[in-house]
Amino acid sequence: MAGEEELPVRRRDQELDFHDVLPENCPHCGCQFVYAKDDPGIVWDPGRAWAEECSNHDCHCHDEPVIGRRRDEEPVNPL
Ligand SMILES: [Zn+2]
Repeated sequence: MAGEEELPVRRRDQELDFHDVLPENCPHCGCQFVYAKDDPGIVWDPGRAWAEECSNHDCHCHDEPVIGRRRDEEPVNPL
């Protein structure tokens, strides 16, 4: 294992339910997002947290981040 990741173990989805999460790399830019262990359809994108090795700052995961919901679901609480 290279490097300690400072990822929260659990995150809240947009309905405020907690999920255990696992990291995954965005196939489009290489940044890390996380998804719910119990429901991999629910994801949390990095938003403005670009990784150093990010290859595309305009990637959808930065430009239109999906936070605690499915990619095809409308946000309940747009910030
Ligand atoms: Zn991306």
